[in-house]
Amino acid sequence: MTIKSLIRTIPHYPKPGVQFRDITTLLKDPLGLKVTVDALVKRYADQRIDKVVGIESRGFMVGAPLAYQLGVGFVPVRKQGKLPAETLGHDYQLEYGSDRVEIHTDAITPGERVLLVDDLVATGGTALAAATLISKLGGTLVECACVIDLVSLGGRKRLETADIPLFALCEYE
Ligand code: 5GP
Repeated sequence: MTIKSLIRTIPHYPKPGVQFRDITTLLKDPLGLKVTVDALVKRYADQRIDKVVGIESRGFMVGAPLAYQLGVGFVPVRKQGKLPAETLGHDYQLEYGSDRVEIHTDAITPGERVLLVDDLVATGGTALAAATLISKLGGTLVECACVIDLVSLGGRKRLETADIPLFALCEYE
């Protein structure tokens, strides 16, 4: 069993021409879920992580069990207007239009070592926006971890230019 073999590809979703990499088939498989979370636990167990930040919504599915296993807290980064208390937000450009992510202002204590988690990195725009929030709150971003790196979209380079290392469990062109 490999992680990649349990990821399903949906052609033309959510729009024509897009090959959507669907991790729900990986997560519903008991061994798939275990292997995914265990691989990340192994990498980060000795890296003195203080907080795991997960990006809405699939970043929650991987980030929360990872935080639990690491024995640290979990913090959600959400789309605009979803968090109930005082937030800090960051706008970022999409191919067409823009989007905004938000975090609670009290979610991170300055100096904490933070691990950022999402299911997939494509252009890296979402991860970079989340990284900006973490840094504005005084967190030290250790790494960005994801299940899938869509290599041809250049997210790794973009993140590394901003001094953010990317760790991916598998890659697609
Ligand atoms: P980026 O900002 O790096 O261009 O896009 C990454 C974000 O879009 C992630 O939050 C991810 O969940 C979502 N995303 C884009 N394409 C896919 C895909 O094919 N599969 C999944 N699971 N998520 C995607």
